[in-house]
Amino acid sequence: MTDTTTRELLAEAAARAADYLSALPERPAGPLPGAVERLTEALDGPLPAGPGSAEAILDFLDEHGSPATVASAGGRYFGFVTGGALPATVAAQVLAAAWDQNAFSFVSSPAAAAFEATALRWLKQALGLPMQAEGALCTGATMANFTCLAAARNKVLADAGWDADRDGLFGAPPVTVIVGEEAHATLYKVLSLLGLGRERVLRVPADGEGRLRAEGLPAVKGPAILCLQAGNVNSGAFDPAAEAIAWARESNTWVHVDGAFGLWALASKEQESLAEGFREADSWATDAHKWLNVPYDCGLALVRDPAALARAMSISGAYLMTSAHRDAMHYTPESSRRARAVEVWAALKALGRAGLAEMIERHCRQARRMAEGLAAGGAEILNDVVLNQVVAAFGDDDRTRRVLAAVQDAGTCWCGGTTWKGRAAMRISVSSWATTDDDVERSIAAILDAHRSC
Ligand SMILES: *Cc1c(COP(=O)(O)O)cnc(C)c1O
Repeated sequence: MTDTTTRELLAEAAARAADYLSALPERPAGPLPGAVERLTEALDGPLPAGPGSAEAILDFLDEHGSPATVASAGGRYFGFVTGGALPATVAAQVLAAAWDQNAFSFVSSPAAAAFEATALRWLKQALGLPMQAEGALCTGATMANFTCLAAARNKVLADAGWDADRDGLFGAPPVTVIVGEEAHATLYKVLSLLGLGRERVLRVPADGEGRLRAEGLPAVKGPAILCLQAGNVNSGAFDPAAEAIAWARESNTWVHVDGAFGLWALASKEQESLAEGFREADSWATDAHKWLNVPYDCGLALVRDPAALARAMSISGAYLMTSAHRDAMHYTPESSRRARAVEVWAALKALGRAGLAEMIERHCRQARRMAEGLAAGGAEILNDVVLNQVVAAFGDDDRTRRVLAAVQDAGTCWCGGTTWKGRAAMRISVSSWATTDDDVERSIAAILDAHRSC
């Protein structure tokens, strides 16, 4: 392709992307009616025999793909703590796609390495986490939990005289893994990937908001890991970190925090009291694609003891680094990978400390308004709205499910379903920079319309 046609193609892609984004405020929050069926049908052909033109491919994507998308980049999407994507981060991702950098090492992309160093430094400054902590940018909180817990597993075993990196787990001393009853489903998958087992963990009972009850922490001996949660995926509640960490210190237990979205409370003076104790942990996993509002995908792992992370993730199996520079592959599960740090840097640069705090606080305020508006219209709010999460019911389980389906059908906003304290519920997560107060009011009205019509 000639230079001009590449330029035209990218200009066309940018124009279509801008059109897509500017239509979001008025389009349904879910796929347009029939669009997914039309896309599936249009895709239902064999592998093309020969080449296709880039213009036609872009045209296909926009004609068939755009209408079939979930409008999760818009302001009235409240599903799955999804988060939007700040304009600066979308633009950064477009340029970074053109760069096509391989961020596995310093030599493969000194630029990506430089952005990563700054992104990690700013992340620690934004959250008030220890500056000596070493980190990894990976696909999401699932892999961030994996990264941290691999470091934890190998470190607690090393302290017991066992080299898990070299010898694996066969014959190793048993590791006691303790989680709260309300730990996120992905954490169990991570524990199984790490050979720690989904079922052999100790589950500590939780209270009505989903917080682990510190008095339920067992007596432990030998290698042990405690997984705490900052931000329950339904209620938004935080485990009692200060008590749990005091307990862990007595038994030399590694404390890991799954703070996929909740850890961002630490970036706000108004919200940080919820999460303050979590700063004393040994490792932290969070997402940038949720509350920081960068495009998919981006998870962040931080480990207080840099050697523990390097020992678990180093590509050579040894943890003595040979390069004079920081090579990311020694801290991440992946080797070749995209330069995610570019968008994390762009988000933190675009928001600054004040903008980040303001966004977190705005979402918490909007969640409280959502709860108040729904309650005034007859909904039952099932959680204490301490963060950005609202869990609502509209009568018995069947009725709640009907209201949820009606809300999703009407398309003004999108909320997901969940089960909370044994009841069917609607879960509303306010986590997009794009959500305006007007979006919140329109969504309250749409949910109450569905409530009245069911
Ligand atoms: C979203 C979430 C995860 C999983 O994160 P991914 O980015 O989907 O991998 C883990 N824990 C909690 C508390 C979450 O909210």
